[in-house]
Amino acid sequence: MISRHLVIKIFVALAITVVSFTAYATHSWSNYHWSRTTPSFTLQTLNSTVSAGTGANWPALLSAAASQWSQSTKLDLNVVPYSNALKDRKRCTAVSGKIRVCNAAYGNNGWLGLASINITSVGHITQGTAKMNDSYSSTWAGDANEAPHVMCQEVGHTLGLGHTSEDGSTQNTCMDYSNSPTSTAPNQHDYDQLVTIYGHTTDSSNSYSTSSAATASPGQSGMAGDVPLGNLVHRGHFHDVYVAPDGRGGLWITHVRLAPGFEHLDTQ
Ligand SMILES: [Zn+2]
Ligand SMILES: [Zn+2]
Repeated sequence: MISRHLVIKIFVALAITVVSFTAYATHSWSNYHWSRTTPSFTLQTLNSTVSAGTGANWPALLSAAASQWSQSTKLDLNVVPYSNALKDRKRCTAVSGKIRVCNAAYGNNGWLGLASINITSVGHITQGTAKMNDSYSSTWAGDANEAPHVMCQEVGHTLGLGHTSEDGSTQNTCMDYSNSPTSTAPNQHDYDQLVTIYGHTTDSSNSYSTSSAATASPGQSGMAGDVPLGNLVHRGHFHDVYVAPDGRGGLWITHVRLAPGFEHLDTQ
């Protein structure tokens, strides 16, 4: 049983780590990465999306984002059809060694998109989910750039990338918070960042699964069900970051893309 004291220490350490990344031009997400024993790897990307209509054809947007991120020399995303029953998309249970992308009407809860990664105590990503919220259908319909932007960004987070800027200015990448039509796909800086994050081959094992089987076992024991949000550790103008212990010595970290009207106007 992990002591309450230790949990608090982890939260404090993590809050400092999470906050500090915003201050630097590099935009890895605190150097979180999938562990690998080879120079490049293929990440199985479970597709639990359905088209939500105007502006939000999620399966098409996922496939576009996957091929864009796959232009990285370090990784390929292999999109695999996965359960898209409504109840499964709502839960979007994480699957060990893979990322899973879901959409549903999650409610008017303040978030447009949400990316969660499960990291070990040394920062290796072991599973991740990205969720798009159809309850904000007017946002998706109102700006055709928004859905590809958010899809690309949430998937980018599951690879270990943070934001390139958080003030709304454009860096011509989906990892910024701009509404610019040039901010809907990764740019060369993102690919360079992936080279940095995944440049080492000193990991002793792979944290990703090589199996593309759609019947893969659900998340590791103790992690059946939804990803816990946990405690708010960072508040930005357009986003929040939450951290929760995963019960196995690691953490769940969640990036929340705030919905219009829910931005924190007192922060930059
Ligand atoms: Zn490593
Ligand atoms: Zn984000």
